[in-house]
Amino acid sequence: MKRVASALETELARLAQLELRRSRTTVEAFPASDTRAVALHGGRRLVDFSSNDYLGLARHPALAAAMSACAARTGAGSGASHLITGHGAEHELLEEELAAFTHRERALVFSTGYMANLAVLATLAGRGERVLLDRLSHASLIDGARLSGAELRRYPHADAGAAARLLARDPGRTALLGTDGVFSMDGDLAPLPELSRAARDAGAWLVVDDAHGLGVVGASGRGALEHFGLDAEEVPVLIGTLGKAFGSFGAFVAGGADLIELLIQKARPYIYTTALPQPVAAATRCALELIQTESWRRERLLCLTARFRRQAREAGVPLADSPTPIQPVLFGSAAAALAAQRELEEAGFWVVAIRPPTVPPGTSRLRVTLSATHTEAEVDELVGRLARCCSALARSALA
Ligand SMILES: *Cc1c(COP(=O)(O)O)cnc(C)c1O
Repeated sequence: MKRVASALETELARLAQLELRRSRTTVEAFPASDTRAVALHGGRRLVDFSSNDYLGLARHPALAAAMSACAARTGAGSGASHLITGHGAEHELLEEELAAFTHRERALVFSTGYMANLAVLATLAGRGERVLLDRLSHASLIDGARLSGAELRRYPHADAGAAARLLARDPGRTALLGTDGVFSMDGDLAPLPELSRAARDAGAWLVVDDAHGLGVVGASGRGALEHFGLDAEEVPVLIGTLGKAFGSFGAFVAGGADLIELLIQKARPYIYTTALPQPVAAATRCALELIQTESWRRERLLCLTARFRRQAREAGVPLADSPTPIQPVLFGSAAAALAAQRELEEAGFWVVAIRPPTVPPGTSRLRVTLSATHTEAEVDELVGRLARCCSALARSALA
């Protein structure tokens, strides 16, 4: 036991040495009237530029009210998995509404996006088959591919030509092509029309995980598929998460009736886990309603994103090529990104450094995310602070 314990200590020390050790910050309180700020440990108010609450729904009083009203009827817990006694009326309604929203025959609600991705990949791919993923795909797609037992190949980021060549190389073997719709750490969109063509030509499944696109991208918030004008035939498997723009929790898979029925029959991450509590589904239904009726949230988010980019360009803050509210600012080394995080925190901003293995080595960054509830003044001040961090980094590189 002692040897094992010292191995743990060694590994933790190694992570710290590489500036890769993570720590959690405990969020203390949310004053109800202050919908975007967070009071951290010690009571300091920091403006959050790191959450995925793009539309400002996570603390919307209507979601909380829908949750409590439902909890009063159903209780807090679902008590069992969906196939035993955990499946309730709120789940059914949410699935119908998500299917309608995504223009698909059916939708299936999962407890998390991580599990939805494990379920889809492990159900649709298997031993002897191939899974092709973008190099920057979310960890849960990669883990799903591993769980499936299929051979995993990763193609260069957003390179549909490379994906098509890999598919063509071994035409006899069944393949599945998977990608994020909007890349979670970079904010750019996958070349979905080209990927869809490549998949169709090769007779492969195309799976799009649009965790960061749904609610945000597309004229009516239907995500990356709406942005590109792609229908259910062109992208047969759509995965969405409910903990990001929806401000709630959970995830779903949307697709044809047979796909959903097969997932219910066979997907272990669906079958062998407790059903999402119904009050959470009720909050999500409320969010879906707001996403469809309050388009001003999306419009405001677009305005703030454009403003951030304009100001950053003028101030000499290096930007990535991202049209979405995910705006990474690259620092390179983990130490430099952490130093910038600390400096911004001093100034009242919460922007978390993203380091390997979440991003490739040498691309540590501050992942700035905008929300419809930020003010123009907050965006402007953040850019000013970022500019200072970037010029300090440039000076130290020259020294
Ligand atoms: C966040 C995320 C997930 C996981 O969703 P959870 O509901 O948080 O488990 C899956 N895919 C992508 C692209 C994500 O960004």
